[in-house]
Amino acid sequence: MPSTSAHALATRVLHGDDAQFAAERAVHPVVAPIYWTATFAAEDAESFAAMSADPRHPAVYTRHGNPTHERVQRIMADLEGTEDALLTASGMGAISTSVLALVKKGDHVIAQTRHYMAAARLFADVLPSYGVEVSIVEQSELGNFEKEIKPNTVLIYIETPANPTIVLTDVAGIAALAKKHSTPNNRIVTIADNTFAGPVNTRPADLGIDVVVHSATKSLGGHHDLTAGVICTSRELGTKIHLMHTILGSVASPMDAWLLLRGIRTLTLRVDKINSNALALAEFLEQQPNVERVYYPLLKSHPQHELAQRQMKGGGPVIAFAVKGDYKATAEFVAQLKLIVHAVSLGGIDSLIVHTATMWKSTMSEAQMKEAGIAVNFVRFSVGVEDVDDLKADLTQALATVPS
Ligand SMILES: *Cc1c(COP(=O)(O)O)cnc(C)c1O
Repeated sequence: MPSTSAHALATRVLHGDDAQFAAERAVHPVVAPIYWTATFAAEDAESFAAMSADPRHPAVYTRHGNPTHERVQRIMADLEGTEDALLTASGMGAISTSVLALVKKGDHVIAQTRHYMAAARLFADVLPSYGVEVSIVEQSELGNFEKEIKPNTVLIYIETPANPTIVLTDVAGIAALAKKHSTPNNRIVTIADNTFAGPVNTRPADLGIDVVVHSATKSLGGHHDLTAGVICTSRELGTKIHLMHTILGSVASPMDAWLLLRGIRTLTLRVDKINSNALALAEFLEQQPNVERVYYPLLKSHPQHELAQRQMKGGGPVIAFAVKGDYKATAEFVAQLKLIVHAVSLGGIDSLIVHTATMWKSTMSEAQMKEAGIAVNFVRFSVGVEDVDDLKADLTQALATVPS
């Protein structure tokens, strides 16, 4: 309804641009617009009824769906090779929504000793408090998972590679285990957190995994400027998870969805560059006299190198390494870096580094750190797209401060 001067100012500020808005429908922008709206208008009663009947309609109410989200979801499903994808407000939104959709009181879940910290809490604290039984197993041996499978096991949750020592889980092996032990009455579903490797390097669904979750805050967004998560799965499980999503409400803002869409456009370019920078830097660090040990999936010295080659096309952005020094020397090394930024997160265009022990000091006791393999001289380095020789030079000048 176009507003005319017959309307009062209070009405004209709402409807004064209606004609322009209608004309925009015939416009074809090269770049996707942001549907920055919480709700969508119906043409008539019949279409309103049809819109309301579809719980996943992409243009009724943004908690249920939004055309900007829909575009990201189409691309993500294609990238991970799944039928369905669902955008969430964060990686933890993707993880908690999918896990809570798939387990109930009395069920048994198997997870790993090494997970992203908040995910570890979900398994160690939250699920048991809701009456879900949880087994936590060391992930490098497939047999550790199989030993824990019980008649009420409904979910195996994996994350690979995982902090802090870049330990891998055999993705195809886990999928095969779940299938082998599923019965007509009890299906074991598998979820893989694919944040570290990403779909360019590893496609867990191709290896038989049922649900792939991501922190899109990391490599998918790629620019350290948004928070989002994605769940990629079958239409069947996606429908179940979407229902939980409308209840838990981990809804990405249309702005973050749009930034993610923009970020994903250059995903393959960024990942190619980051894979090659990271492998070169991991090999370079291994040669440095002030470096004690380097952990990177595609290094020949990685204890699971053969598995890495089997399930990863590239090693991804994250290198962990230990400098030859104590807590103070390690903190000083990090402080001396000029190009590599001292910040958490990973997978973006800027190289970031954290001194792992300082990061976990507040949440873990020294004994827990030791148990998790976090040494005081450990750093986690997320490699960006800068020139590799400039990154080497920055590491060299900072390593010179470490007394050897
Ligand atoms: C960052 C991260 C998460 C959590 O993602 P948010 O977007 O911060 O909620 C989960 N898993 C892994 C492996 C991560 O690196």
